[in-house]
Amino acid sequence: MNYATIKKHDVANGLGVRVSLFVSGCTHHCKGCFNPETWDFNYGKAFTGEVQEEIIKALTPDYISGLSLLGGEPFEPDNQAVLAPFLTRVKALFPEKTIWCYSGYNFESDMLTGKLGDADITDEMLRNIDILVDGKFVESLKDISLRFKGSSNQRIIDVQKSLATDSLVLWDEESNIDRKDIAGSSIDCCGCGE
Ligand code: SF4
Repeated sequence: MNYATIKKHDVANGLGVRVSLFVSGCTHHCKGCFNPETWDFNYGKAFTGEVQEEIIKALTPDYISGLSLLGGEPFEPDNQAVLAPFLTRVKALFPEKTIWCYSGYNFESDMLTGKLGDADITDEMLRNIDILVDGKFVESLKDISLRFKGSSNQRIIDVQKSLATDSLVLWDEESNIDRKDIAGSSIDCCGCGE
């Protein structure tokens, strides 16, 4: 897997100050995408063991609330194969921090149905992700007043509550703010880096 960017102090893509990893490769090709260069799976740099250690180190300070995954598309099968074990490691090292993920795929119809490659790997991704912002960016539904999403069709899903109750549970921001969290800003697009 390649990645486009790592932001070590990102306040726009999830609650609090976060480390954000923008992976390369996306087959959605949404109209109005702000980062079409990341559609190419070969764009950017290799996601090596050294890069993974750099992210682990960046996640260590107490003021960092967690890791955010963006793209590109983290749920492309080739990207999942690399990200799933990495997320398992991050969660084991930092169980108190949250993992957010932005995806153009749909939670129920794509991720829970095993359509995105190896279903065991998708399950491992979902076991480790706390919050999922799902759905393609739809230019006609773009709304810059939305927090943490680019267009109004996208949803902010509490993945662990959804899996535990076998139903869709949207994220309840009010009950999730803690002392480390600070106000983020709204984003354009799907969270792919703008
Ligand atoms: S907006 Fe996001 S999901 Fe859509 S093409 Fe761009 S990177 Fe892919």
